[in-house]
Parts: sequence; C-alpha cells; structure tokens
Amino acid sequence: MTKLRTCNRRRKLWPSVLLTVCSVVSPVHSQLVSGTMDVHWNQGSEDCVKNPQPPIQVHQYNAQTFILRESLCATYEAPFIYLLIGKTKALLIDTGAVADAKTMPLAQTVISLLPKGGSRLPLMVVHTHGHLDHRSGDDQFRALPDVEVVPTDLESVKNRLGIADWPNGTGLVDLGDRVIDVIPTPGHYSSHVAYYDRQSGLFFSGDFFLPGRLLLKIPTRTWRARSVLLSSSSSIQSLMCLAGISSWTSPVRPSPPADIIRMSGRCN
Ligand SMILES: [Zn+2]
Repeated sequence: MTKLRTCNRRRKLWPSVLLTVCSVVSPVHSQLVSGTMDVHWNQGSEDCVKNPQPPIQVHQYNAQTFILRESLCATYEAPFIYLLIGKTKALLIDTGAVADAKTMPLAQTVISLLPKGGSRLPLMVVHTHGHLDHRSGDDQFRALPDVEVVPTDLESVKNRLGIADWPNGTGLVDLGDRVIDVIPTPGHYSSHVAYYDRQSGLFFSGDFFLPGRLLLKIPTRTWRARSVLLSSSSSIQSLMCLAGISSWTSPVRPSPPADIIRMSGRCN
C-alpha cells in the first residue's frame, strides 16, 4: 500500500483528468511519459437522426493511454472513459452511460485497442464511483474471458483495489511497469475513488473534482449531512496536499437544497 503525504488530516466538455504535480506521490518517477491532448471533441448534432454521429470517439493520448468519449447523440452525459495499458494488464476506468452494446459498442472498441499479438492482456474494469453514467456498460464486459469487473460497493472497492485503511490510506494497481495509485475521495459518492497514473502523471478524478459545480447529495438528517460534507472536504484537502497546494477554497453545490457551500482547508 502506498502512503501519500498525510497532510495533517487524521458534464462536461473536459475529461476529468488533471495533470498533477507527481513528485509527492512518486519521486522516483520523475520522467513522465508525455501525451497529447490535441483533440477536438465531437459536439454532437442538432438533429442526431438526420445527422448521426459515431457512438464513441477515441483519442490516443500516447501509445499506452486512450481517452474515449461517448457521443452526445447517444447520451447527454457524454461521459469520458479511460484505458491504461501496462505490460501485463490493462485498466479501464468507468464504462459510461449506455448499456446496450448495439447502440454503444464499448467492450468491442476497448478490446480492439488492446495490443495485438500473443494472448490478449487481462483487463480490469474499475470505476471512479457507482453513478449510472459511470458504470452502465459493465454488463458488456462481464461475459468476456480474462476480464474482471470490480463492483462499486465500498467493500469491493476496498478489497479489490487494496485500500486497507479507508479513507486515509491508498490502494495500488500494478499493470506491469505501470503503477496506478488509488485514492479514496468520498463525498460526491460514498465509495468514490480517484486514480493517479505514475507513468503519465495523469489524475483521473471522476465527479469528485472537475472544472464545474461539485455536486453533493446531502441527506436530510443533519448528522449525515455533516458526515458527507466532512468526507468531501477531507477528499479535496487530500488532493490539494497531494498536488502541493498549501491552501484551498472550493464552492460546492449540494443537491438538495441548492445552496452553494464554500469549503476551505490548509496543508501543513
Ligand atoms: Zn457522479
């Protein structure tokens, strides 16, 4: 288990990928493998019947990293999905908002992107969290050989991603010469995690942190609301400390009620 610096604590037009300062996480991986974000994301169509769009857009960030986006003509969420390929295993982060393989051939597309030659790499399917727009494609993968789909309940996330101390510790997935840190980020969703790729320096934040309103589902009971806010605040603080940012303030829109709450914190 990797320990991050403890930091004094006990839809979207852009993929929720953040390029982060990685030296805190893995000082030995100072040479990041770069990639390109020179891509124009499909804006959908005024009339998707008259002017249908491809169901999935695939952007190759680098030789071993793919960013996929489901079409706005297939789902208004148009979620992003990420495929990271190592020497011995591939990792798919999220499976999008569309279940039907005929409408959205996600599994077929992902398998086609895996390296050719020899036996196909095993594929591990994980999620940032369990909202339906991040896991509706799961069933397309479940029947495939050499594919593991990790469920989104907290026990499964902890057990399969190696997080012994939730939410203070971290987990790790080794893809073979490519290590992915798994960072608990509850708040938006109780078992939400983010992923940090030591090879590329990419951080996959899901819905916990993105360039837009951060949504929290606030329970009606006061003590539960406080628990959600504390979880979210702690998650943001972890991320900011990880990125080497000493203090932060973040607006958060709970749902409901539609008030904006400002949370702030500081790293020592
Ligand atoms: Zn969500």
